[in-house]
Amino acid sequence: MTERNAIEARNVVKTFGQGDTAVKALDDVSVAIREGEFFTLLGPSGCGKSTLLRAIAGIWPWWQGHLSQPEDFGARAMFLPQRPYFPSGTLREAVAYPQSSDGLEDAHLARALTRAGLAHLATDLSAEANWTQKLSGGEQQRLAIARVFLKQPAWLFLDEATSALDEKTEAVVYQALLDDMQARGGTVISVAHRTSVAKLHSDTWHMPSAPSAAIA
Ligand code: ADP
Ligand code: MG
Repeated sequence: MTERNAIEARNVVKTFGQGDTAVKALDDVSVAIREGEFFTLLGPSGCGKSTLLRAIAGIWPWWQGHLSQPEDFGARAMFLPQRPYFPSGTLREAVAYPQSSDGLEDAHLARALTRAGLAHLATDLSAEANWTQKLSGGEQQRLAIARVFLKQPAWLFLDEATSALDEKTEAVVYQALLDDMQARGGTVISVAHRTSVAKLHSDTWHMPSAPSAAIA
């Protein structure tokens, strides 16, 4: 039976392509994550971690199986990919995206940036740029993390969202993120590259074996 405050995915199957070149990325995978858990998906590159994470976050519907999510999940969840998107324009708009920055106080935005390790940007929220070009990969990932501090989701999905940071910075930023989520009883579901990050989670789950290359 499905728990009310849990994500439960059952018998998830996803095949990419057809015929000789088909790849079964997920082959009857089932997983349950309860509210308040810090859960990390582990496994070698290509074993289906990103595919499963997108499926259980509900941001990508092209798979077979069953998914149940808590009530009002969509409004309380955030997904951070490895390469976040930023609109060109002011820094204020880039942090607030996809919401409007109207009505958000500068002090609130600056605090979110500072907590994500971007204090050097927090003094000029009106600066305009193509942020994807202007910022390094690590800064872009921290800018996306600032959105978490700003919006305070109850459910947070991280798909190698700190991979461009050096190990020390990554540990500091990740811990700040987890402390913030824990203070609100939030749930974190991560795909993390380094074991130092995986260790910060309370639950680890090794994905079943790598996908079959061709299933035709
Ligand atoms: P991981 O995140 O564990 O590295 P992915 O979930 O990205 O793995 O991918 C799982 C498998 O599915 C891989 O073999 C990958 O090549 C394949 N795959 C993922 N996305 C696509 C796609 N859009 N088209 C074709 N194959 C894909
Ligand atoms: Mg991946």
